[in-house]
Amino acid sequence: MCGIVAYIGQQQATPIIIKGLKRLEYRGYDSTGISLFNGSELHTIKTMGKVSDLVAKFESLPPIAAQIGIGHTRWATHGVPNDVNAHPQKSNTGDLVVVHNGIIENYASLKEELIHRGYTFSSDTDTEVLINLIEDVQKKEKVKLGKAVQIALSQVIGAYAIVVFDRKKPNELIAARLGSPLAIGVGTDEFFVASDATPFLEYTKNVIYLEEEHLAIIRSDRDVSIRKITNDKVIKPYVEELQMSLENIQKGGYDYFMLKEIFEQPQAIRDTLRGRLLSDEGVINLSSLREHENKFLKAKRIIIVACGTSWHAGLVAEYLLEKFTRTPVEVEYASEFRYRDPIIFPDDIIIAISQSGETADTLAAINIAKERGAFVFGICNVVGSSISRLTDTGCYTHAGPEIGVASTKAFTTQITVLSLLALHLGMVKGTLSRSEYQHHLLELESLPVKVTQILEQESLIKDVAATFREASNCIYLGRGYNFPVALEGALKLKEISYIHAEGYPAAEMKHGPIALIDEQMPVVVIATKKGHYDKVVSNIQEIKSRKGRIIAVVSEGDIRVKELSDHCIEIPESLECFTPILATIPLQLLSYYIAVQRGCNVDQPRNLAKSVTVE
Ligand code: GLU
Repeated sequence: MCGIVAYIGQQQATPIIIKGLKRLEYRGYDSTGISLFNGSELHTIKTMGKVSDLVAKFESLPPIAAQIGIGHTRWATHGVPNDVNAHPQKSNTGDLVVVHNGIIENYASLKEELIHRGYTFSSDTDTEVLINLIEDVQKKEKVKLGKAVQIALSQVIGAYAIVVFDRKKPNELIAARLGSPLAIGVGTDEFFVASDATPFLEYTKNVIYLEEEHLAIIRSDRDVSIRKITNDKVIKPYVEELQMSLENIQKGGYDYFMLKEIFEQPQAIRDTLRGRLLSDEGVINLSSLREHENKFLKAKRIIIVACGTSWHAGLVAEYLLEKFTRTPVEVEYASEFRYRDPIIFPDDIIIAISQSGETADTLAAINIAKERGAFVFGICNVVGSSISRLTDTGCYTHAGPEIGVASTKAFTTQITVLSLLALHLGMVKGTLSRSEYQHHLLELESLPVKVTQILEQESLIKDVAATFREASNCIYLGRGYNFPVALEGALKLKEISYIHAEGYPAAEMKHGPIALIDEQMPVVVIATKKGHYDKVVSNIQEIKSRKGRIIAVVSEGDIRVKELSDHCIEIPESLECFTPILATIPLQLLSYYIAVQRGCNVDQPRNLAKSVTVE
């Protein structure tokens, strides 16, 4: 949700910030803007629309030579997307500017107070309230900018990542965070601040991930100084080396990041398995689990918290963990869990799943679980993310940057990690026999090749998509392990093609949704050989009798379902527990091509943004 980029140093700030904003556009793209200080004047250029609209606006203006600036690409929470509500937001004097990711929840009462004190507001944003609050503190307390930001933030309820600039202090940027991420790139006599590290990849490999409730004072002629917002404690910055390369974040010849990421899945799964599935020794090695294994073995219950696609991975994990470890599993929407005053026992294990590792609701759910003494295991893709730092231990998916808003490789690699976890725990616990364990490891190792085989059917899937692109509704059905796949398939279609789609357990059809079936209704059925095949075939027959149009995902060589279906996509045979990884791939391609054929912007679907850092 929203991308922030700021620069201070010796280079021209404009191209660095613009390029950075383009890289962060996956986080929000309804409006965008930049403030630049050229040594005497502060220029702010903002526009509704995307970064390309901002570039067009820049081209109509005389060039601005500036070595300091802040930029933003917005995902509106307060106030419609328009030029005025776009960030940076200015204070009343025009001296201070801020870019903000998050929500100031008590903005209304703060605004009322400020209006009372003579402040005026031109936007509808919560952010404009924050920058005026900072200005007000500066005036009242006569303190330096860093301190004023700190005092103002202590009056704020909500979530934020901010960068503040004061034209009266033009060699300094203030950055602070609570609940939304910020990374500081450390160069030679120059610094970058951004929502993730991608905007400064080509300039420096040194990064400081700002911690929760930390405030950084950044000056090009000094080291970054960091303090805790709540108690002034000075923190020694921890500089890490970035592992990402530029190649990882470019489209590499694909039309969309989503398609690139779909095709990266064989490698992404290999990367997830690397060093963990030791096929020569026939074992799984999860080093992060080693010293905590006992906790898992003694746990009476596992609770999985997640949102969106990660929640679907959690549902697959419910099947996996219950089958292999015989431990009861509950899967919770993090947003519901956090507000339900959940019952958590100290011997519960919480598994938190989030691609970005920044999902606000999942973070909040983890905090509650920790407060109540539960042990928290995290599964994230982004290294160094808030969730990965907050959890007791966990596993990265190592899928590489996922930029397409609709999650693809994050999902399949999350299931891969969860499979490793379930198999390992089952083996250690003795609820899975050694021979079954070995058998599953061999199959797990073969998955990347099988995913590649499915991807080779791209053109067939593209043709199937062409026949369904005019649909306005669609139903997805699956049973057992494939029920979460049906949910995920429906979500992908909704997200990027705007076709209304619902996923159901196939047997639930008769309890309502079957009323929707007519000759217009496409029904995507996951009907692989392993797992309730005959039952699913009966469900298909019921749909056929009501003239529904069937697209089936079947096991290679299937004949029965093929005869009943309008279109069939084959996937290689596998063990039942791994079919979600395979069956998801054609559904990703199907929604991708339906969306493309409907003229949708697949990487920037309307109203959505990646990394949901607000509630
Ligand atoms: N709440 C702020 C706004 O609506 C920031 C939203 C964002 O994170 O982009 O302007």
